[in-house]
Amino acid sequence: MTDLYKSCRLCPRNCGINRLNGKAGFCGETSELRVATAVIHRGEEPPLVGEGGSGTIFISGCNLGCSFCQNYQISQGKPGIGKTVSPEEFADICKALRDKGAENINIVTGSHAIPAIIEGFEAARKAGVQIPILWNSSAYEKPEAIELLKDYVDIYLPDLKTLDSKIAEKFFNAPDYPDAAVAAILKMIDSAGSVIIRHLILPGFLDSTRSVLRWFKENAKDRAMLSLMTQYTPIQDRKNEKPMPKRYLSREEYETVLYWLKEFDIEDGFCQELVTGSDWLPDFRRYNPFSSELSVPVWQPD
Ligand code: SF4
Repeated sequence: MTDLYKSCRLCPRNCGINRLNGKAGFCGETSELRVATAVIHRGEEPPLVGEGGSGTIFISGCNLGCSFCQNYQISQGKPGIGKTVSPEEFADICKALRDKGAENINIVTGSHAIPAIIEGFEAARKAGVQIPILWNSSAYEKPEAIELLKDYVDIYLPDLKTLDSKIAEKFFNAPDYPDAAVAAILKMIDSAGSVIIRHLILPGFLDSTRSVLRWFKENAKDRAMLSLMTQYTPIQDRKNEKPMPKRYLSREEYETVLYWLKEFDIEDGFCQELVTGSDWLPDFRRYNPFSSELSVPVWQPD
């Protein structure tokens, strides 16, 4: 399967470079799998957290590169924070999470590393790790890549960031994001029993949220759940010239979206309380990147 890295077209960026030769495409990663951190996370949707928390593994690199990414230290560095792991080391991380009580293994932003992660899943299975696997991604993925995951992933947790190609171009340099994400999400819905579609409300872009709600009602309601997120946090201290919303969501915007949920008769899912502070902003240079209420560190690069 690592042949897929040879002329890499794993995701819609279609870079066509040979990652087996140590080259990196838009995602910033070669064929080596790098992990940035692994924690027991309590900030996911309640059924994913359960009693023991979600066993979250943050993969280094990203194929989308949102201008406002709160994980930019691991997703967009050159390279971002992280350490190369073998399939067996990946399995050890999964075991460590399970042994700390994790309810599941939650792979964050692995779209650009699917072949290597599948090797890790195989090694984890051999090592006796049997808890459910979550695939937590931007949905900037190809349906054929999702097909590769179907024997491993139990629950999909894709974003649907926007259906507006102008917004996708402005903030992720990916005008094809809406079409790609919709195709990937529909494939996930066909492949798995459980799909939770996440949408982060962008301050000042409520029309985009309304389109996502309408799409959900018309295409996914009764087959997936919706999780509305309010935690957009403007990144203050990053040397970043890219455009991004510069403020938190307002109460008025939040209440407008709650009203729309009723209008579209969307009840099955989750909606965050209004977030207006930077508590959600991780710092991956710290031993615990998140606040102590949110996470317990289990594995870190040396
Ligand atoms: S996975 Fe990385 S190298 Fe491959 S097409 Fe996507 S961005 Fe390019």
